[in-house]
Formats: sequence, C-alpha cells, structure tokens
Amino acid sequence: MKVPPFSLEKQLSSIGPELDAALLRVLRSGQYIGGAEVNGFEKSFAESIGVPHVVGCNSGTDALVIALRALGIGQGDEVITSSFSFFATAEAISSVGAKPVFVDVVQNNYLIDFAEIEKAITRSTKAILPVHLFGCPVNMEQLMSLARARGLHVIEDCAQASGSEWNGRPVGSWGDVGCFSFFPTKNLGAAGDGGAISTKDPDLSQRMRELAVHGMPRRYVHTELGYNSRLDALQAAILNVKLPKLSSWVEKRNSIAMRYLELLQGLTGLELPCSSVEGNLVHGWNQFVVQVSNSLRLNQDPDEPHQTPRDILKKRLEEKGIDTIIYYPIPIHLQPAYKNLGYSLGSLPITENLCSEVLSLPIFPELSIHQQNYVVESIRDLLC
Ligand SMILES: *Cc1c(COP(=O)(O)O)cnc(C)c1O
Repeated sequence: MKVPPFSLEKQLSSIGPELDAALLRVLRSGQYIGGAEVNGFEKSFAESIGVPHVVGCNSGTDALVIALRALGIGQGDEVITSSFSFFATAEAISSVGAKPVFVDVVQNNYLIDFAEIEKAITRSTKAILPVHLFGCPVNMEQLMSLARARGLHVIEDCAQASGSEWNGRPVGSWGDVGCFSFFPTKNLGAAGDGGAISTKDPDLSQRMRELAVHGMPRRYVHTELGYNSRLDALQAAILNVKLPKLSSWVEKRNSIAMRYLELLQGLTGLELPCSSVEGNLVHGWNQFVVQVSNSLRLNQDPDEPHQTPRDILKKRLEEKGIDTIIYYPIPIHLQPAYKNLGYSLGSLPITENLCSEVLSLPIFPELSIHQQNYVVESIRDLLC
C-alpha cells in the first residue's frame, strides 16, 4: 500500500467540477486582478474569522511582511517569535528590517513558551509573533494580556491554522493582525500561492491594502514604497469553492488525529502531540507530529551508523510505502542565513531537540481508515 503525507486526489475528484466551473467563469470574465471573486472571498473569509476586514495578498509570507510594515515595525525593532516554525515566519521580520528574537517552545504542544517571551522583552521589542504551529492554537487570551500589559503588538501567524479556534474565536481574530497562507498543503489551499491578512482595525486594513498595491491609496499616487502582492482572481475563485468545506475538512482532520492518538498510545519512545491543553480550542491538525525519542534503540543501517531513531523510523516507513515529513529538521535560529544573529547549538534546547525527534505522519481529510490503520500497524511493528 502507498500512503502519501498529503494528497489532493480525492478532493479533486469530489469538487473538481465546481472548481472547473469557477475557473472558467473567471477566465471568460476577463477580470483577472481584483473584481467580484476577490471581493467576495475577502468578505466571506472575514465572516468566517469573525473580523470586519480581510485583505487578500500573494502569499502567507507577504501577509506577514505587509502586517509588520503596516504596524510600523522596521529597523531597530525586535519581534519575539519561535524558532520552531517555517522559515518565512522569521524571514518576514528580517525583510522589514527588524530583528527576530527567538524563544523556545513548550515540548508537548510545540508552541511558543510564554515564560520565555517575558524574559526576551527589551526596550526595542515592538511585537510578538506567535505561530499556531501545525494548526494548534496558541492560548490567545493569555498571550493578549501579556502583550497588552507590555504595550506590544501581536501578529498571529495563522498560516497552518485556517479553521482553528481558541476559546470559541477563530485564530486571526485575537491579535492586531492575523496572517494566513493558502499554499496548497495548508488547511485551506489554493491552486498556487495566496494569502490573506485579517484585522478588526479599519485604518490598519486600509494601510495594508495600500501596501499590497505599491503603497498606492489613489490611482498613481504613491505615498510609500509597497509591494505588488495581490490575491489572483483565479485563486480567489478556487478559495470561494473551498471555504464552505473548510470546517468539515477540519472535522475530518480531527477524527484522524483522535484515531492516531488512540491507536498509537503506549508505545515506548513515541511521544504523541498534546491534543488538549487547558482551554477550549479547535485544533486544525494541519500536521500530526509525533516525537521519536533519541534514546530509543532501533536497528541501525550498517552503512548509515549515525542516523537518529527518528530517521531510522522514517526510512523503514518509506520502505513500506508510507511517506512522512520532518517539520522542521533545522531550527530557524541555526539556519545558515541567520549566522549573523549569533545563536549557537544549545541556545534553544527544546526546539533543537524537537528538530531531531519530530516526524509528521500522513494526515489530510481524505486519508482512509484503511491507510491510517496501515500507518499505525507499521509503526507498532517497527517500534516493538
Ligand atoms: C506556510 C507558512 C508560511 C508562509 O506561507 P506562504 O504562503 O508559503 O508564503 C508562514 N508561516 C508558516 C508557519 C507557514 O507554515
């Protein structure tokens, strides 16, 4: 049996005709930039998040860059974030001229550690950028009260968390700004790049809209340097078809995650993701990430004696037709691009250890019970 980490095959056969019709409609309308599909999507997405304003843009990365710029963050400013994330989280901070300050995460839910945030705040700190990693929402009530007490902005990285909620409110509705990605493998994926920024603040929304189109409040009047970052009408049309299905897809991801949690429990050396921290939340389960302990003893390949137990398990699963992914093998603070920031091995021990132990198991709404059972049985066989 083959089990991919992610697949659109079944989704495309179920909503393919609707997608075809939506694309043809845009193609034949001749309206490719802006227009009804984009406006309609921004409005429905805003409603789904429970905020008055959403600005579409070209990617999740651009969403972060534009949000940071609109909040006035730049040269000389520090933004606190976690190093256990996709590189774009930090790259966006650096690309507006500010400095990413990395803090460690909590071992069992992979999310930014609030106690570490407190310690990292300096006079230059302007904002906190929490990541709802793998779809698990950060405790936004606690984070907002921490940020308010210190007068800091909050930019939520919701790229992996479309459909996630903290205490009855969607992510992206808590901070000053929420940044979403519609990269095809995210919970709400386009057929290419796409992103969106959510906010309750009308002035901020206006500023972000201008920044996304060359800093242009009126036609050919440019008040500042901006970007060419728009959500395409073709992508918006696809998202308009998919958005109404998002909550049922998130429910399916939840059932798959609950089955993994049940069927994989009790294996020595395998730590499962924490499904419910305190508080009432909806986990988007963009990824199901387990930790394979470095102290586990698995048979090594004689020709590759230095593999970690995680790497060995990954390889053995691959041999059985099961593809898994490592999110993320190198923490951002140790990336070659950030040599200049002066971090070294040991700076963020939990993050660094996670990068050597994590493994993402196949999860997507259409993963069959049959496929999931095969993944579970294969892991059980290999670990005992
Ligand atoms: C995917 C992702 C991004 C970037 O989104 P793009 O649309 O690919 O630019 C940012 N942050 C996180 C956590 C992501 O997973």
